[in-house]
Amino acid sequence: MSIKEILSMKLQQLYEENTELLVEIGNLLEPELAQIVDAFYVELLEIPEITPILKNAIVEKNLKESQKQWIHDFFKPRTAKDIKALIERQERIGSIHANININLNYFTYGIGLMKREIYLRIHQYFITQECQSDINCNQAAYVLEHRNFTQAFLVVGQLFDVLVSLISEAYFLNEMVHETNELSLKMKGMTQNTAIECERLRSLLLDWLRNTLTFLYQTPDINVHQLPKLQYSGFGLWVIYKADFLSHTVNISAELKKYIQEIDDALFTAANCRADRNETSFFDSVSELNNTVSKASWFISTIVDQVIELDTGMDSLTRLFNRRYLDTILRRQTNISMKQGFPYTILMLDLDHFKQVNDTYGHDGGDAVLKQFSELLMLSVRSSDFIFRYGGEEFLIVLSNVDSQEALSIAEKIRYKCETHMFMLPMNKQINKTCSIGVASYNGHPDYNRIIKKADLALYEAKNNGRNQVRFGVKM
Ligand code: GH3
Ligand code: MG
Ligand code: MG
Repeated sequence: MSIKEILSMKLQQLYEENTELLVEIGNLLEPELAQIVDAFYVELLEIPEITPILKNAIVEKNLKESQKQWIHDFFKPRTAKDIKALIERQERIGSIHANININLNYFTYGIGLMKREIYLRIHQYFITQECQSDINCNQAAYVLEHRNFTQAFLVVGQLFDVLVSLISEAYFLNEMVHETNELSLKMKGMTQNTAIECERLRSLLLDWLRNTLTFLYQTPDINVHQLPKLQYSGFGLWVIYKADFLSHTVNISAELKKYIQEIDDALFTAANCRADRNETSFFDSVSELNNTVSKASWFISTIVDQVIELDTGMDSLTRLFNRRYLDTILRRQTNISMKQGFPYTILMLDLDHFKQVNDTYGHDGGDAVLKQFSELLMLSVRSSDFIFRYGGEEFLIVLSNVDSQEALSIAEKIRYKCETHMFMLPMNKQINKTCSIGVASYNGHPDYNRIIKKADLALYEAKNNGRNQVRFGVKM
């Protein structure tokens, strides 16, 4: 049974068994809805990260209205069909929060605030009732109210928990899709388009400069409040919307935003001097503007190198993934396995006595072997797998949707291919080389570092056991 089915059953049971109580709580909360929502909103605004999102008249109005509706619906009696709609609604809420990139922690914090406000009112309500029962000395009524009091807290708490679980479930599913898309977008951008994008970016900047200089020189009465600022130009928009996709380790977008600010400041100064008819200062500030644009343009020309060298995630010798990417990939892989039940397996490979290659044939000889070994690996796995250069002559392969049995035979195939391969060296020399491989599979534990460790231990055993062999990691 999926978690969603379990939650749905739980909801049905809660609503069926507590219909009257829920209606009673719903009625007592009805006149307080606006206050509850206000208290919630005010406290959320204290979190600096979400203030910019919430501090908007439309958001405030919509949010408050939908909050009120949410609480109102919460206590309504429900049939099985209503429950289905309720679940769908929570799922929509989850995916919307993921879409607008609100951290789920803030969301659960908000829900906690709402729960507190509701509990306070239930408490208040039952205390009042209790006093009345006391005055009337109606012992039976008192016991009944008291039982209801506890029950009210329990039921509301459980309902909240179920709804929040539904929302989080949808949130994470959606996040995963986003993350995957963003990652593939980044990879695409990095490997194919960086050079073209940077060239385009430079020409956008120079176009802007040309137009702006014409504007500065030819506009008779400059209004300094209506300048063709760089931040609003095609260049500025590109930085806002696309710069982040160019790289994730080099912070290009922050650097470019700094340049934009400097350039717009220089433009403002130049326009002011022109408006004041201060010619000397005007020429100085135009020269400052030119310089800053040149610096920015130079920075853009270095992006290509920075991105390709540092950030493509590709190792420059082998063209395999750099180890830096490993966490991202394994996190994703583990998420997919947990959600969808697909297995995955890690192979840890190390060339045997590799140092001898360097010692005998020099570093170039060693490099040539590393390159050919990488090609051999690329030809041995599917395109959905990931191959990393893990260290000097160590490699790590993530085999997607492959269980341990299948992985062992893939590893054995790689071992055999390596053993029988003739590695070509400079000066037309050829050598044979072997490798050792450790294998470990995902076993349901979310910490992927355990799998890496297991594969590493298995590799160590393969080495100790005489090298040129595959070992499966079982210990730990
Ligand atoms: P073992 O079978 O136990 O793995 O022995 P080994 O010689 O392969 O292992 P060891 O760790 O002693 O040596 C690895 C060598 O790999 C040492 C290092 O100089 C070499 N190496 C690491 N990175 C590179 C590289 O990028 N190019 C070249 N040519 N050699 C490298
Ligand atoms: Mg080695
Ligand atoms: Mg090694």
